[in-house]
Amino acid sequence: MPCDDYKLLIMSLLDGEIGPDERVRLEDHIRECPACARELEEFRKLKGVTDQMKFVEPEDEVWERYWANVYNRLERGVAWILTSIGTILVLIYAAFRFVDQFVRDPQVSLLLKVAVVALLIGVVVLFVSVARERIFIWRKDKYRGVIR
Ligand SMILES: [Zn+2]
Repeated sequence: MPCDDYKLLIMSLLDGEIGPDERVRLEDHIRECPACARELEEFRKLKGVTDQMKFVEPEDEVWERYWANVYNRLERGVAWILTSIGTILVLIYAAFRFVDQFVRDPQVSLLLKVAVVALLIGVVVLFVSVARERIFIWRKDKYRGVIR
């Protein structure tokens, strides 16, 4: 078996996908072939480095700790609720003002009036829906935090 084939075995060894027979064959070869032994060593080092790089990703953990803080979660939740309510109220107010003037305008056709009113109602319902989804997700987060 040529050395190139053993290089493939080295790869599967490092990936933990090598069969027992192949493993014995590779070990026998590595004892006799310094080139492949060095290859294995290099790949091991390389793999060790990449494994370490996978570990050095503190971001998730940092964020998790941040969000584990009840105050942070509460702050964000309250901010979301207030923002949602405020947005909805402003939208409803603006919509009413607009519709009031728009509907009274005799130059605008009835079809367009109906279309615009439907559009505005749709936007408001969408906002309410998104806000409710946010609150739902926030509640679930809170619940999950309790379980943990
Ligand atoms: Zn070799």
